Amino acid sequence: MVCWTSLLATCDQVKWNQVARARLPGEFELIERYFAPLSRGAPGALGLVDDACTFSAPPGHELVLTTDAVVSGIHFLPGDPADRVAQKLLRVNLSDLAGKGAKPVGYLLTLGLDPAIDETWVAKFCEGLGRDQSEYNIHLLGGDTVSTPGPLFMSVTAIGTVLQGQSLRRTGAKPGDRILMTGTIGDGYLGLRVLRGDFMGIAADYRQFLVDRYQVPDARVRFGELIGARPLCHAGMDISDGLVADIGHIARASNCGAIIQAAGLPISKAAAELLAEDPDLLIDLMTSGDDYELLVTAPSDTISELQERAKVSGTRLTEIGEVVAGKVVKVVDRSGDELNIGRTGFTHF
Ligand code: ADP
Ligand code: MG
Repeated sequence: MVCWTSLLATCDQVKWNQVARARLPGEFELIERYFAPLSRGAPGALGLVDDACTFSAPPGHELVLTTDAVVSGIHFLPGDPADRVAQKLLRVNLSDLAGKGAKPVGYLLTLGLDPAIDETWVAKFCEGLGRDQSEYNIHLLGGDTVSTPGPLFMSVTAIGTVLQGQSLRRTGAKPGDRILMTGTIGDGYLGLRVLRGDFMGIAADYRQFLVDRYQVPDARVRFGELIGARPLCHAGMDISDGLVADIGHIARASNCGAIIQAAGLPISKAAAELLAEDPDLLIDLMTSGDDYELLVTAPSDTISELQERAKVSGTRLTEIGEVVAGKVVKVVDRSGDELNIGRTGFTHF
């Protein structure tokens, strides 16, 4: 798309455009050299030389579409390695597809490149995309590349498929349902704290584990696909805003309440070590977000089948509470006393 305001460019903007051009090949060279190879294997992408791509869902399936944007300084740190930024960008989107029980198939990518971006950065970014394309068996289908005088930003629109009418929803939880989550809670939050210089007292490999969980979260795609293949859950979503807030989202959408057992939350070894020193940290783990784990509610009689699917997909699945009648969402300790939570999750505004 042509930028008409460039006709009104100030001298500063002209100078900036020259700087950006010196660091990067032209838009179409970038697409040909770095993005087109990532579309190989997806015939509908038309080699990224056409106006748009085509895509059809297999018979009996419907498309699941989701988009998530990230901005430098808000969702990642300006110095974060480009390949890891790419992987996180993809994975936060794939996690949304998993939360719908969908099988991911491809994605569209919008990049807003700031003047500091050079070709080395783009190459590394695409290396990260390529790695996760292989990991999750998806292809780049199209996108847009623009320059920006503001901070670096990027957006992915991910496309998945699910059996017609079988996508997981936030509505549908029923009193008596068990609440389960994949993986462990709060590692992403702790990883960000490590990057900011906290927790220097724990072992270096624990610190690295937490940073990895923040920068390259596991999207629970295989487990999500297995849930979508023959639904056993009443409701589900991915945890991105904070566990308590997200359980609140399911509860509100389903017109129910929920009780979360603090003592039953799945905690990584690294997080356990930090909790031993500061038990209050538990509240932060369940309210800070950046987890990209799956949250589901299911009747008791399907739990063993769900656990079987978790095992098949190599995913830890832990029961953390139950859906109740009413509207109250609370976290209780071993003796059933309610914990005082305060803020339940992350919001931008
Ligand atoms: P138009 O001007 O017709 O909108 P563009 O010049 O923006 O087309 O893009 C040309 C082709 O390159 C399109 O197929 C588009 O999907 C693809 N493309 C552009 N930027 C990207 C990107 N960052 N990632 C993937 N594909 C891209
Ligand atoms: Mg375009």
